[in-house]
Amino acid sequence: MDFSLTDEHKALQEAARRFAREELTDLAREMEEKAEPMPDAMRMRLAEMGFLGINVSSELGGLGLGNLEALLVLEEFAKVSSAVAFPVFESSVGPTRAVELFANDVLKQRVVPAVCRGEIVVAVAMSEPGAGTALTDLRARAEVRGDTVVLNGTKRWCSGAGHSDGYVIYCRMSDDPGARGVGAVYVEKGTPGLGFGKPESLMGFRGIPSADIYLDNVEVPAENVVVPAGGFRKLMEAFDLERCGNATMSLGQASGALEDVLAYVQEREQFGKPLVEFQAVQMKLAEMAMRVEAARLLIWRAAVNAQQGLPSIFDSSVAKCFSNEMVREVTGAAVQLMGGYGYSNDYPMERRLRDAWGWGIAGGTIDIQKVNIASAMVGRRFDQRR
Ligand SMILES: Cc1cc2nc3c(=O)[nH]c(=O)nc-3n(C[C@H](O)[C@H](O)[C@H](O)COP(=O)(O)OP(=O)(O)OC[C@H]3O[C@@H](n4cnc5c(N)ncnc54)[C@H](O)[C@@H]3O)c2cc1C
Repeated sequence: MDFSLTDEHKALQEAARRFAREELTDLAREMEEKAEPMPDAMRMRLAEMGFLGINVSSELGGLGLGNLEALLVLEEFAKVSSAVAFPVFESSVGPTRAVELFANDVLKQRVVPAVCRGEIVVAVAMSEPGAGTALTDLRARAEVRGDTVVLNGTKRWCSGAGHSDGYVIYCRMSDDPGARGVGAVYVEKGTPGLGFGKPESLMGFRGIPSADIYLDNVEVPAENVVVPAGGFRKLMEAFDLERCGNATMSLGQASGALEDVLAYVQEREQFGKPLVEFQAVQMKLAEMAMRVEAARLLIWRAAVNAQQGLPSIFDSSVAKCFSNEMVREVTGAAVQLMGGYGYSNDYPMERRLRDAWGWGIAGGTIDIQKVNIASAMVGRRFDQRR
């Protein structure tokens, strides 16, 4: 076992770090102020630099590297902000991967290379007004009629809704109850009958638009089926990778906060000496560092155990749950260490705290990860309905 990164890993990490810090810091502030997603031109630049689809196969326009490489890059972007990291997240661990892994060749070729070129963005629509944690209660329907599929229903909390060009929509595709009836269909923006609610105003995640999605007799070709009814297990396996991305978004908020606060406590003086000279501050820094390091190791374990494939539910849930809890503590401590400056929105720290909270709800709440972990430990699912 070797915990050190290779020279290639370090070079990739450094390239991502330099680009994110130099080119995206001001943009992150602007996206936060305006609550607008990354401009198309910058997304194209990310693609040119090879940051979109790092672990996507090279035949489909990606770099063909592994999950670890994708997550190394994602952390560096997430240190700057969740919103600037979001296109990296979507292309390397998000719904694009479900299309790459499960869709037919025609759909794959239409969607995945365009994402890697930065031309389109794809979002995932799973949740509904009545189906959050109980996702298999979802009611949106997709009916196969010959060589077309017709979708009806309402989706909620879709990150990227309204802005994204394509949507992987989880829906009920047969009369089988629960998970057995669930599949997923790809729907392009502009398809007649596809509508969006008003933009949600969230505690954080500004620059990652969220809205309801309305499906009113939306008709798409049958080749747009990503997985048919019965494919829920597959979708959840791909979601194990998304969990590692969510964990890395949390890690990035925390490690970025720690880097910034470490510089701050060495500069800021009170009682005639830098804050770092106070032992209570030293204890706090050490506790933050221990938590950040532990989260990073859990994420790397999940990624390296499944470098070209999909992580296990145990590894990915442990990594997500720990990171989601860790980032709330670490960003809270960072705000506190910066005093009034931490609480001011002239500095990025309070934004990190607000964004941090969301990652422990998005992609399955902290408590449901704990249920997943206990299930994996005893080797059976716990029925939440009985
Ligand atoms: C920032 C953000 C981004 C999101 N992005 C997307 C997206 O892109 N696409 C998408 O489809 N959805 C997205 N979501 C939705 C997200 O997946 C859901 O909010 C989440 O799954 C929880 O569902 P809910 O909000 O309906 O809460 P509920 O399911 O109502 O849960 C409320 C509380 O009850 C607890 N709870 C529920 N059931 C159990 C149980 N069995 N055991 C223990 N505790 C339980 C939960 O842990 C939680 O604390 C996003 C949410 C947020 C906040």
